[in-house]
Amino acid sequence: MNGSKANGSGAAAAAATPNNSNDATNSHPQGHWRNQVKAPPKDTRHRTEDVTATKGNEFEDYYLKRELLMGIFEMGFEKPSPIQEAAIPVALANRDILARAKNGTGKTGAFLIPLLERVDLKQNTASALILVPTRELALQTAQVCKKLARHIRGLEVMVTTGGTSLKDDIMRFYQPVHVLVGTPGRVMDLADKKVCNLQNCKMLVMDEADKLLSPEFTVVVEKLIGRHLPSDRQISLFSATFPVAVRGFRDRWLKKPYEINLMDELTLRGITQFYAFVEESKKVHCLNTLFSKLQINQSIIFCNSVNRVELLAQKITQLGYSCFYIHAKMPQAQRNRVFHDFRSGACRNLVSSDLFTRGIDIQAVNVVINFDFPKSSETYLHRVGRSGRFGHRGLAISLITYEDRFNLYRVEQELGTEIAPIPPNVEKSLYCE
Ligand code: AMP
Repeated sequence: MNGSKANGSGAAAAAATPNNSNDATNSHPQGHWRNQVKAPPKDTRHRTEDVTATKGNEFEDYYLKRELLMGIFEMGFEKPSPIQEAAIPVALANRDILARAKNGTGKTGAFLIPLLERVDLKQNTASALILVPTRELALQTAQVCKKLARHIRGLEVMVTTGGTSLKDDIMRFYQPVHVLVGTPGRVMDLADKKVCNLQNCKMLVMDEADKLLSPEFTVVVEKLIGRHLPSDRQISLFSATFPVAVRGFRDRWLKKPYEINLMDELTLRGITQFYAFVEESKKVHCLNTLFSKLQINQSIIFCNSVNRVELLAQKITQLGYSCFYIHAKMPQAQRNRVFHDFRSGACRNLVSSDLFTRGIDIQAVNVVINFDFPKSSETYLHRVGRSGRFGHRGLAISLITYEDRFNLYRVEQELGTEIAPIPPNVEKSLYCE
């Protein structure tokens, strides 16, 4: 491993600043290195206040190392979003954090940027662990991490999740790992087997923290922290929803956490929500009408069970529309392929179980359809948050049967939002840009 700590005068920066190798200031917005950054084309789509209502900070204000700034700008991030403004300085100061912000408003950058700034490249073992509840989210987070860190020489990111070969993961640990992204069960397994050493892991981030603290995961997560992490670690929790269960965890494990709550309202401003009242037997017909009338860029269609996902995908294909499906009972290799292909735009529609409700970020999705109405308002919130990413506009349409009517009312009440009956023609400006 190359153990050199990357900083403003490191090799990557020097390569990018051939005429200015003495310029050690990270805060010079017009510095030569900035001109070398290959930023993607500017996104000119309209953005809502969910991401534009900032204090006016710049990324340079945080005195980040130049290689990291280069990665940030190459992602197309020009200025920090509100959650990034709130979390980055606090995380850099090593405080424990409990942060609540809406879906798709830049949470991943909010925890990855300060984490990458502080990763210890002199150690061969992980100095940061990011736990997430699903394998797909682990892959996505690791990808964003690698992109942000692409100019930080020698920094190694590893992703480890259930459903993949344990042997491969064990072999991988013979190489250095600085940032580990994973699902709790597999990380615990590797740590218990003493393959993965977390003694130097001073930063733990839990993304979609409330899900990680649901009965399904919480025992493993708490054991992992208690048994394997050093006592002087920083713990940061991020999510859009924080039910009461999180409080017990906070009191047990966090030290004077800095609490951030950017949720003055729950639903995203860019998303217009409608419902269509239908009989169960007419749902497919209704979906067909929606497909023919709406201008769908990409859509995710949610069902409440694995069986219904597969059946609906079959019906949609029979109707002549392109469609993939994904659910938790599929082999992991197939899940990965579908996730990758849908993300790269190979198919317009994806039928999904709630596997996909959390964190998945596909900017091209402008329509979410609840073929089956979800049972809880939290699930509703996370599902509809798959459209309207980073303040863009999107549409969420729920098919409502007679049995769902009270549930619809409850979700509206609990989220303080309005879900209106769908008009005969949905204005394109609401979800197409
Ligand atoms: P997240 O909430 O982390 O899943 O991010 C949602 C989307 O916003 C992703 O596609 C990010 O690439 C994008 N994003 C995050 N932070 C910024 C930023 N500061 N400027 C522009 N886009 C961003």
